[in-house]
Amino acid sequence: MEPTVGVLALQGDFAEHLSVLTRLGVPALDVRRRDQLERVAALIMPGGESTTISRLLLQFGLFEPLRERALAGMPVWGTCAGAILLAREVRTLDRPSLGLMDMVVDRNAFGRQIDSFEADVEIEGIGGGPVRAVFIRAPIFTDVGPQARVLGRLADGTVVAVRQGNLLATSFHPELTDDTRVHERFLELAGVRPARGETAVARAGR
Ligand code: GLN
Repeated sequence: MEPTVGVLALQGDFAEHLSVLTRLGVPALDVRRRDQLERVAALIMPGGESTTISRLLLQFGLFEPLRERALAGMPVWGTCAGAILLAREVRTLDRPSLGLMDMVVDRNAFGRQIDSFEADVEIEGIGGGPVRAVFIRAPIFTDVGPQARVLGRLADGTVVAVRQGNLLATSFHPELTDDTRVHERFLELAGVRPARGETAVARAGR
């Protein structure tokens, strides 16, 4: 049986991630409890509100177990708020982050006038042209340290995708577009093969 991929389902747009995984034919589980976390081979942390997700992680007793599993090698991908929680240091977050990735994050750093925008971004390791990236009150990754690797930037150099071993962070929301390539890349990193459904690679070949 294929390993199950979890989506942290405390708050935010977890349903959209679950639906992409289902479309790719990957067994997926919404994770709210510790026993559910124990059953998954990899985890996606969705976008939403990082202060709320951090509070609920603590309240639901998931904060330390999640941190420990990630440190033990479980693949984890954070999108937007999820990515904020992976960082070593977060400016203007009044709650703890998991502190797993060697980078600093500035929350809501794009400023009010561009609360939401889209851009084409080339991501290292993803072929077939740039990804259309949707940013919603997105954070900016700064001070990416030697442990981590920048995978994608905006035209002005702003870092929007970072990988550190088993950990992946994107400040944008691939789950809000029809392009499944970033999900497929994460699944590849996690050693999970999409079982059925039409992959982006198959679509691009048409
Ligand atoms: N601004 C949110 C935060 O700081 C993140 C927004 C998002 O996940 N789309 O938590």
